[in-house]
Amino acid sequence: MKIERVETFVAEQKLDKPFYFSQFEFQARQVCLVKVTAEDGTYGWGEGYGPATVLRAGIDYLAPLALGEDPLQVEAVWHKMHRRSLDYARRGVLVGAMSAIDIALWDLRGKLLHQPVSTLLGGRRRENVRVYATGLYFTDTDDLVCRLVDEARCYVSQGFGAIKMKVGLGVERDLRHVRAVRQAIGADTQLMIDANHAYSLNEALRLARRAEEFDISFFEEPISPEDYDGYRELRNRTAIPIAGGECEYLLEGFRHLLAGRCVDIAQPDICGAGGLSEVKRIAALARAYHVNIIPHSWGTGIAFAAGLHLVSALDVLPGRLRMPEPLLEMDRSENPLRDRLTKPLFQVVDGMAAVPSAPGLGVDVDMDALSEFVASD
Ligand code: CA
Repeated sequence: MKIERVETFVAEQKLDKPFYFSQFEFQARQVCLVKVTAEDGTYGWGEGYGPATVLRAGIDYLAPLALGEDPLQVEAVWHKMHRRSLDYARRGVLVGAMSAIDIALWDLRGKLLHQPVSTLLGGRRRENVRVYATGLYFTDTDDLVCRLVDEARCYVSQGFGAIKMKVGLGVERDLRHVRAVRQAIGADTQLMIDANHAYSLNEALRLARRAEEFDISFFEEPISPEDYDGYRELRNRTAIPIAGGECEYLLEGFRHLLAGRCVDIAQPDICGAGGLSEVKRIAALARAYHVNIIPHSWGTGIAFAAGLHLVSALDVLPGRLRMPEPLLEMDRSENPLRDRLTKPLFQVVDGMAAVPSAPGLGVDVDMDALSEFVASD
């Protein structure tokens, strides 16, 4: 069996209500998907994390390396792509392009072997994965605090037991938001904060120390992802667990983060950091440093399904009789692509999402919906 075709699709949709976070505003959602087809017509879907048109160029560059190869030899293809890209891209969007192809190959391999990806990753430890709601972005409204409180209550009513909110508008303003959201959701719901590296070490430290009273489960990307020393110092000076890694790439990138004792929680993005092949290795490395993985996930059902399969196959540290359940990010901000491009849609019941049991990733793309969203260029 050989890989016969690699196709890319860039889909885009303008948003009804633009929103922003500490770095920039979203007017639209965009995604680059890749479909890898074997000579018997079996196909797999993958998705990259990053600017969609740049990802498409990257996938076009790497695709010839996959064509003609055996789709069951996923990691062999991965190494071929990695060797070809290493001189130019030890991190960044080309790694995202490689990730997209790798995810499609895992999906394809699962279909060819009639097994779900989680089984191929080493075995399902759980059939349902605990998910947290990512939302609570900023919008230009007169009463942002009320809007955040309403949105947070909505996630609780949908059954989410954990919610992540954005910070990064300034320490005092952030604290007003965090206080209001914590009061609104009560003590039983986990609350996390994410600054998207908006802060200096000093600002992050001030925010962390004053946010400790609000029982924050983790503080994500407090400072620049380049500032490994700053991460370590912050982690040593606050009781709030520090999370990071969505801007980190490949095993070697995570080695910096882990060996530097920078984070309590590592957050590789499967669609960006090197695909399922590499994030599996990153998880193994994190385990050696006694750090748990909570994958970053920001995309369509393909990215989310990849996350479900990975987390299903993860061990949680430390092991004990009543194990804490690992978490996976579930973006709840407006994204028509996520809601319409893939089937089936993932349901959340009591804060959990079921790991697909169908072969491969267990999601398929609705080609009618895709043609509606594909950008004309
Ligand atoms: Ca984030």
